[in-house]
Amino acid sequence: NRMAERAGDVIKTLMKLGTMATITQSIDADTAELVASEFGHRIKRVTEADVEQVLVDQGDTDAAQLPRPPVVTVMGHVDHGKTSLLDALRKTDVAAGEAGGITQHIGAYQVILPHAVHGFDRVTFIDTPGHAAFTEMRARGAHVTDVVVLVVAADDGIMPQTIEAIRHAKAAQAPMIVAINKCDLPGANPARVRQDLLQHDVQVEEMGGDVLSVEISAKTRMGLDKLLDAILLQAEILELKSNPNRAAVGVVIEAKLEKGRGSVATVLVQKGTLKVGDIFVAGSEWGRVRALVDDRGRTVTAATPAQPVEVIGLTAAPQAGDDFTVVETEAKAREVSEFRQRKRRQQQVAASGRGSLEQMLANIKSGQAKELAVLIKGDVHGSVEAIKGALEKIIDAENEVRVRVLDAAVGAITESDVTLANASKAIIIGFNVRANPQARDMARRDGVDIRYYAIIYNVIDDIKLALSGMLAPTLREKFPGNAQILQVFNITKVGKVAGCKVVEGVVKRGAKVRLLRDNVVIHEGSLKTLKRMKDEVKEVSQGYECGMAFENYDNIEANDVIECFEMEEIARAI
Ligand code: GDP
Repeated sequence: NRMAERAGDVIKTLMKLGTMATITQSIDADTAELVASEFGHRIKRVTEADVEQVLVDQGDTDAAQLPRPPVVTVMGHVDHGKTSLLDALRKTDVAAGEAGGITQHIGAYQVILPHAVHGFDRVTFIDTPGHAAFTEMRARGAHVTDVVVLVVAADDGIMPQTIEAIRHAKAAQAPMIVAINKCDLPGANPARVRQDLLQHDVQVEEMGGDVLSVEISAKTRMGLDKLLDAILLQAEILELKSNPNRAAVGVVIEAKLEKGRGSVATVLVQKGTLKVGDIFVAGSEWGRVRALVDDRGRTVTAATPAQPVEVIGLTAAPQAGDDFTVVETEAKAREVSEFRQRKRRQQQVAASGRGSLEQMLANIKSGQAKELAVLIKGDVHGSVEAIKGALEKIIDAENEVRVRVLDAAVGAITESDVTLANASKAIIIGFNVRANPQARDMARRDGVDIRYYAIIYNVIDDIKLALSGMLAPTLREKFPGNAQILQVFNITKVGKVAGCKVVEGVVKRGAKVRLLRDNVVIHEGSLKTLKRMKDEVKEVSQGYECGMAFENYDNIEANDVIECFEMEEIARAI
């Protein structure tokens, strides 16, 4: 129709190209291009995704950019005082305690300072419970936080979630300020906190590094001014700027369905000014701003950069971390929202393998990615460090692609590792350790690639080959199944025999086996016997009980897991 050609002529041309097609048949884009140019038309390729073009940021001139307040997230171990600190900081607000103070719980709020510090008169705090929320937001591509405040209790020191918070902050590449809390307590030892942070690659100023640390007490309010000063100093260094005079762009911090108000989303405006009446797209939903409510519960008519507001007027609730963009017309908003909903459904159908090594390499090849992110978990510190060191040294001369080690730690692979890997599109390397069942399910669901190794050389080799784009056929381990030891029997002349139950797949007599305790490999070898009742058998499948004993090894305990593995040669291709 658009070429104003007769169908018969088009079919004839197609035949000349060797394609037999009928008038109602779809043809691929390459063929269509050939046909169109055969008729002397100039073609321009568009994709369905072009509807999202309206959301592409045109950028702002430097002159239009004005300073904006910083956005801060507080993280740390449970009970170290995150909530107390946020409450204490809230009380520094000019209107605190009076009518008009921060009242609403909308997932983020702005503290207005009594006087300007380093040129800022306000700070925005994001109050999302737990680190998972932070990472999930990042997983959706939202860069919300300018500065992370790490709260560490001076009487308790570095704890598991402190380490997790450090990892998340590093992965997000957000500058960190350490708030050493509870310094009012007699057992407080801030010097030890600073010292111990070194072990996690955080060098505070007192230790010769450049991370600011402040001793505070959320309870007595000691050091809060200093903390605010440090936050704002860091903000000043970052030269945070944004153009307030344009259509608004932001991020959804929280969204929910409320009785009487419909779908309500807390949005942090990042650029421009959001006004009542604006038409917008939020993730795969759209709407028109019917009302804006600020963190003090007041109805406002507009919100500026770094200001969180509740937006009323959505067709449905978006997800935390979704982008929020004001568009010109309702038609465009609908179009984008429909496209995204379609795309989301397609993605759900084809559980995408975006975390798979192959997918990542494809991205690197097409120039979409410049680094291969990995997360290393291992059984001992020495091997983890060795792998980390070796991988970081690999630089592919041609493509300038390198390995970025997000984290390297000792221990089993947990859900938090999978979340982190998913957010950073990383693969996970398990060196003599395994994923726990929850992490395994999650990895399967999110398409995160977990690779298990037992030889350091193999890890390095695999990644090297991968980076140079030469994926030769390699040996890769396959896991037919595993069994859990229920009870250990001591049998004269035979030694220790494990009474097991096969929990996954099948265990086979010929296969090699490993003994895992708490998801860490402690022995590798082969089976002496595999018995079902009294008989020696070839294999036992899931759900059945069996007796097993190792060749030349008997340090086995109840609850250990015996994992069967085979080497399989697979041809890899990108
Ligand atoms: P969160 O789990 O990190 O949010 O920690 P909370 O803010 O709930 O605090 C945990 C406990 O530590 C509460 O009982 C607080 O009263 C107490 N706490 C918090 N900050 C301080 C402090 O600076 N000094 C003392 N002594 N106790 C504190």
